[in-house]
Amino acid sequence: MTTEVPSRTRIPVHPDAAEFLGRDHQLFINGEWTTPRDGGMSVSLDPGSGEQIATFAVGGKQDAHRAVAAAVAAFEPDAPWRVMSAASRARLLFALADLMEEHQEELAHIEALDSGKPLAVARDFDVAYAIRHVRYFAGWTNKIEGATIPVDVPDMMCRTERTPVGVAALIVPWNYPILIACWKLAPALAAGCTTVLKPAEQTSLSVLRLAELISDAGFPPGVVNILPGSGSELGPVLVEHPEVEKISFTGSTRVGEEIARRAATGIKRVTLELGGKSANIIFADANLDHAIEGAAAAIFSNTGQMCSAGSRLYVERPILDTVLARLKEHTKTIVVGHQLDEDTQMGPLISKSQMTTVCNYLDRAASDGARTVVGGNPHTDHDGIFLEPTVLTDVNDDDAIVREEVFGPVLVVLPFDELDEVARRANDSEYGLAAGIWTRDIAKANRLSNLLRVGSVYINTYGQSDAAAPFGGFKKSGYGRDMGRQNLEYFLETRTVWTDLRL
Ligand code: NAD
Repeated sequence: MTTEVPSRTRIPVHPDAAEFLGRDHQLFINGEWTTPRDGGMSVSLDPGSGEQIATFAVGGKQDAHRAVAAAVAAFEPDAPWRVMSAASRARLLFALADLMEEHQEELAHIEALDSGKPLAVARDFDVAYAIRHVRYFAGWTNKIEGATIPVDVPDMMCRTERTPVGVAALIVPWNYPILIACWKLAPALAAGCTTVLKPAEQTSLSVLRLAELISDAGFPPGVVNILPGSGSELGPVLVEHPEVEKISFTGSTRVGEEIARRAATGIKRVTLELGGKSANIIFADANLDHAIEGAAAAIFSNTGQMCSAGSRLYVERPILDTVLARLKEHTKTIVVGHQLDEDTQMGPLISKSQMTTVCNYLDRAASDGARTVVGGNPHTDHDGIFLEPTVLTDVNDDDAIVREEVFGPVLVVLPFDELDEVARRANDSEYGLAAGIWTRDIAKANRLSNLLRVGSVYINTYGQSDAAAPFGGFKKSGYGRDMGRQNLEYFLETRTVWTDLRL
């Protein structure tokens, strides 16, 4: 069965975004727009209509080497970036944030069209938070301090310095293209590193526009290099390159494992932000108005294509039927449509192959005995890749739909009876990214929070994010943290300097 999407008012594409999309885009290497040596051209599709929206260059292996060489040259001790004061680095980052703000609407249109997220979300979350990240880390730039160490050695001064780790390869996924790019670029630049950033194949456009703004802000050539292209082709070159010191990766656990293996050979510094299958837990004493809305937002925002999606909903048994009924009612009100339609709340999936993956999970869940509470059908509308927000129940802890990351708008609902039991079941996952707890009893919430082996716990809320708050996973959700002061540390090395004061 399919559902017709009614026609709605489409917001016209911002003229600056339209002008940007109409141009060809080359690789951004050493501060210049350059044609690929051994890459080619690719096209970007609007997942809400299937239409081609832009063409852009993709790099090949030689281009990856060129990009790293530019970053290496920009990191030479006498290069402009290295002799620049920390305060000047901060000024460049603040200038970039101001330019992003000036072009926020344009960036949001590019991001929405390329990734499928509703325009308001692209503007007020993705781009707005990207700007906040750049400002937050700009503020850190001239606050990176060493220490004087009180060593037990006579006449000896010992101090530490914090120095940039070197050339950093930043590899990002398609679900939050400009935001995750800034999660990584901002601390890398604040620390004084030089960078090669590889966007995901599906969503290179907002980052290419960001490169233009980086150039306008006045960053020296080679400090930021943007290299769209294939992960399987360019990723290994970047990860194994002897002059790349640090890799910051966000993406799937499968690719994360591969990167960790490759990086081990070169003793590279690595941070990995990977997949998740997060538990969201509603107790019978919760404020159900908030909990229902929170549980739906936790899985249906960004069409469920979130690493931290609250995709397993555990409900205390006495309120199971009430929660299912209210979730059904709420889910039916979610407006699915093209990302530039005025009232769209949930946009398309990123690609046909993602749709196939999600639909295969739905088929498998059905054959495992799952019951569909609401949704589950594709929409037939102007070739867009739409799926109704879906809630399933009557599933078992061992079913694939409960254990594996679906990365789509699919929620499974399971009953529980005891706090210890739900903690054990929530932790019974190879992932450990996030969890939600809904209860009016804060002592109980904190008891459960202590038992959960996850990187973020949300109590009576879900999915909060702030540039100052670290985010990352336990277990196969990765290691290291994006955001917060902690992420700055991953782009710095400590040098310990001893001086004999008698000479
Ligand atoms: P992906 O792993 O397929 O791709 C991510 C990036 O890695 C892309 O730029 C891709 O081109 C590149 N890549 C692919 N193969 C590579 C290789 N062999 N070496 C180096 N790079 C390679 O993931 P995706 O499908 O783009 O994104 C979805 C995944 O990302 C989900 O699993 C999701 O949970 C995860 N994710 C995690 C977080 C987090 O913060 N933990 C945030 C967003 C997404």
